[in-house]
Amino acid sequence: NRRIVLQARPTGTPVPADFLLQEVPIPRPAEGQLLLKNLYLSLDPYMRGRMNEGPSYAPAVELGAVMVGGTVSEVIESRHPRFKPGDRVVTQGGWQTHTLSDGTGLGLLPADMTHISLALSLLGMPGFTAWYGLLRIGEPRPGDTVVVASATGTVGAVVGQLAKRKGSRAIGIAGGAEKCRIAVEELGFDACIDHRSPDFAGQLAAATPEGIDVYFENVGGAVFDAVLPRLNIGARVPLCGLIAQYNSKGLYPGPDRLPRVMGQLLARRIKIQGFIISDHYADDYANFMREMSPEVAHGHIRVRENVLQGLSQAPQGLIDLLDSRFTGKVVVQLTD
Ligand code: NDP
Repeated sequence: NRRIVLQARPTGTPVPADFLLQEVPIPRPAEGQLLLKNLYLSLDPYMRGRMNEGPSYAPAVELGAVMVGGTVSEVIESRHPRFKPGDRVVTQGGWQTHTLSDGTGLGLLPADMTHISLALSLLGMPGFTAWYGLLRIGEPRPGDTVVVASATGTVGAVVGQLAKRKGSRAIGIAGGAEKCRIAVEELGFDACIDHRSPDFAGQLAAATPEGIDVYFENVGGAVFDAVLPRLNIGARVPLCGLIAQYNSKGLYPGPDRLPRVMGQLLARRIKIQGFIISDHYADDYANFMREMSPEVAHGHIRVRENVLQGLSQAPQGLIDLLDSRFTGKVVVQLTD
């Protein structure tokens, strides 16, 4: 079993030496267990948070423990009544080639599913996050202006395309001209603003002449600062992620603006609601799959997929993801 453990806790941006690749014997399943061979590992921004000490909404990865991560995996040995060799599942297999499981939390994939890595993007956790946050919290109406941060990331791409399907105007925010081109030409956003442009706030105002009704927050920081003055009375803000601050070492620079932010939320009756998608599987995952599966099958909703080859690529892959080097979903194909 090849696996990657957390060797050191990063301060700021993670570095390759924070991770350690190990080779250990492949475990054998006991009665009631099964052995999984992991085929694809998902790389996601939340992994940065798990590398920190102390609890967040989920426990930290212990030093020396295998890094957490979603996987698409194949059952290769089973002593479990519900699973047989050849079954493919989506699970939290972690950064390793093989995982022992007691069957808890395994999601069986349809036997005829061909593009199985989609279970880690459009038809999995990030897609569900986009769907839940936009529809259950954002509640977009036809004609609404929906602004989406990190518009070409997996979550943002799905939010934008879903907003269009609901009859809203979708305005993306992304880093750089090329990502903005992809947002408009490939993902169907009505416009996309480059948050690195010196005139970012002015361009956002020009693209949202009637203000913003829904802001899907993935980023925080300077992007939120530009969006806040544009939010309409009664705007909804699904607070999904704050990736701009995941690698930060301390407080946001500058004066404390919280009283002003609170004042604006009050005066314009803005609803801002944080959510963690793992809370919502029992109630809504089946509804999401019912709506999304045909949309994805018909090509109405899509995302770019970056496939890295081999477990050893995972650390640099996560570092690059946090450094905004990818457009779309990042998965590691475990060819080891
Ligand atoms: P993304 O692909 O959106 O994340 C990487 C992208 O974030 C980068 O390519 C970059 O895009 C953007 N980014 C990084 N740093 C900054 C910065 N300083 N300022 C602005 N943009 C930045 O990943 P996902 O689609 O997987 O996730 C999107 C968000 O959703 C994340 O914040 C994640 O933590 C959150 N999330 C939350 C969940 C929940 O349960 N609440 C579940 C899943 C995801 P660009 O180059 O365009 O700036």
